[in-house]
Amino acid sequence: MYKPSDVPNASGPHVHDPRSGEILESHINWYHNVMYLLRNWYLIQAAPNDERARKMQFDDELMGELIRFVSSHEVGHTLGLRHNFGSSSTYPVEKLRDKNWVKEHGHAASIMDYARFNYVAQPGDGISGADLYPRINYYDKWAIEWGYKEIPGTNADTEKATLNKWVINRLQDKRYWFGTETNPDDPRSQNEDLGDNAMKASEYGIKNLQRILPNLQAWTRTEGEGYSNLSTMYQELLGQFGRYNGHVAKNIAGIYETPKTVEQSGAVYEPVAKATQQEALRFLNAQLFTTPTWLINKDILERVGGNATTLILSQQERVLARLLSTNTFVKLLNNEAVNPSAYKAADYATDLKKGIFSEIYAGKSIDIYRRNLQKAYVAQLTKLVKEPEASQNPMAMMMGGGPNPMTSDAASIARAQLTALRTEVRTAAAGAPDSMTRFHLQDLSERIGQALSPKS
Ligand SMILES: [Zn+2]
Repeated sequence: MYKPSDVPNASGPHVHDPRSGEILESHINWYHNVMYLLRNWYLIQAAPNDERARKMQFDDELMGELIRFVSSHEVGHTLGLRHNFGSSSTYPVEKLRDKNWVKEHGHAASIMDYARFNYVAQPGDGISGADLYPRINYYDKWAIEWGYKEIPGTNADTEKATLNKWVINRLQDKRYWFGTETNPDDPRSQNEDLGDNAMKASEYGIKNLQRILPNLQAWTRTEGEGYSNLSTMYQELLGQFGRYNGHVAKNIAGIYETPKTVEQSGAVYEPVAKATQQEALRFLNAQLFTTPTWLINKDILERVGGNATTLILSQQERVLARLLSTNTFVKLLNNEAVNPSAYKAADYATDLKKGIFSEIYAGKSIDIYRRNLQKAYVAQLTKLVKEPEASQNPMAMMMGGGPNPMTSDAASIARAQLTALRTEVRTAAAGAPDSMTRFHLQDLSERIGQALSPKS
């Protein structure tokens, strides 16, 4: 169903009989402007490896291939397939740079993932064209076989046992794994991610963004027009950087969910290993909390407007909100209660503080970006030591709401971090190398004091 509309999307809904699963009606909604999405994604993820993507108006041949990818995905929906956000996690990151391997296996095992384009590939790897797009692959063919293959000599009751045997057998090969799109805690089941290690994949993705940014003005230039394309693509680039960090952040306090029938052995829920969580924190310290100054392009900002300090801080705040949420602490504490090798919540909080406040331990000057980050950190921890307002979200409260920091150790850890930090910033303020660093640290000391014993 072609929709002459500027909505940048496509969908493949179906109506099925809830008793049998039989699909009774199905169609694809094809909005004209899905091409806008495709162009933006492909340029931001694949332009370093495909020179056809280095302009605003793609050639029909390239756009046709990109449309084939989306339409194949939507046909998957019309046949009853769900999103398989776990599929991309079954491929090793380094293999996504191996030209021959990618030619044979693609960069994700399912076209029903949101695996978009191979952003791990680096110029020089020799991966281009069709090997950068998703394809109908191992999982998809298997899912269709499961759903549609006739099993002679069975009926609706007896075929279930055969299907379950098939699943258990197939799952010996990870490429047939399904990871839901609705799990908030499993770092394997994320959209827009690639490979089995978000830290490695995101590092490669960022290297590609760093190649794109200096070229963005040239690639978006349109004779006789202003800078709206440049503005759009710069926002897309910032959004993509945010996604790469988000993929990594989900490893912290992450919980793998591997649904199983009772015939299958092993746990369904398993915590992400301590070493992996520490790797994620190191990544965030290096790529996000150490100011990503490469994102600030003065030439671009002079043409599209925008504020360098705000754009950096908004990237950092989004991740900090997750890292310092009650939910993150409660998950860590739960793991610690049952697992002796867990990443302890208090150790994690201390590690995070050490990275964000590295200057004060080294007696160094703190620049404006880092002063903003440190203020955001204190603000986020302050939320944890305050009783949440019951009126904030009445619906969530009725449903039992999220975890309350006051009835867990989350508030105690936050209070301990703020108390220790207050002593540290006071000492550092006394020896601050410049006046702005001193003002900032004195201010933080006051803010922390107010958070710990509010004067109403
Ligand atoms: Zn879809």
